Amino acid sequence: MPPTLETNNVIKTYRSGSSSVNAVDGVSFGIQSGEFVALVGPSGSGKTTMLALVAGLLSPTSGNITIRGQDLTTMKDRERVAFRRRNIGFTFQANNLVPYLTVTENVDLMLRLNNEFNAESRARARDILVRLGLEERLNALPRQLSGGQKQRVAIARSLINQPRLVLADEPTASLDTERAFQVVQTLAELVHEENRAGIMVTHDLRMVQHVDRVIQMVDGQVEKELTSCEDLACLADPANCARIPRDALGLEECPCAQ
Ligand code: ADP
Ligand code: MG
Repeated sequence: MPPTLETNNVIKTYRSGSSSVNAVDGVSFGIQSGEFVALVGPSGSGKTTMLALVAGLLSPTSGNITIRGQDLTTMKDRERVAFRRRNIGFTFQANNLVPYLTVTENVDLMLRLNNEFNAESRARARDILVRLGLEERLNALPRQLSGGQKQRVAIARSLINQPRLVLADEPTASLDTERAFQVVQTLAELVHEENRAGIMVTHDLRMVQHVDRVIQMVDGQVEKELTSCEDLACLADPANCARIPRDALGLEECPCAQ
């Protein structure tokens, strides 16, 4: 099987007038099914652009992006839209919930769009919403929700069609710490349980304790990749850098243990 996602020397240049900026500047990486990866880096380093390229929402200036062996960059627009709907679930910072539909209806809408609206998938929708802590809000309208609740509905919506590739841009941006950990842990579980591949953009390094690998971007390029438990623990909290065993940190299991 090819990796779920493979990017090969991807460049994205934004032009305005006579100036241009390489927001993504020669990025190559692969993500296997069952892997949950954090994309980290300073503001402006190209994380959102990279995620939008992988989601097929932007076209690269050059390079290739392959998902399950199929090249997004050579697909016709209509083909890419259909492929995205079947294979990719994404949440971006602007959540775009439908204002006059309830929480449950916003998620059901995605099932209807994919002709998957049936008892089994509705039960799955409810399960995901409950796991994301929204049990009390199932019949609320978006305007009745907090920013963090809206974000969690958007995450549920991105997962409901069981995509092979799950993409989330700053999924914890408007959540308090406890809720942020819960959401990232749930995302990690939903990726691992179903052997999906996931990428989460985050600037909150504490969240990397739930991922298998970290890709760090600087100035549009991959600065480094971290996979070892020790490195992830150190990144999550520099106080861990004395190579303390994970169980001493109160973490049940090493996230990169197979
Ligand atoms: P990050 O998500 O890491 O903060 P972005 O991908 O949003 O980074 O941005 C990377 C670079 O590309 C930044 O210099 C940003 O100003 C620039 N950029 C992002 N979007 C656009 C756009 N639509 N037009 C022009 N420049 C952009
Ligand atoms: Mg961003």
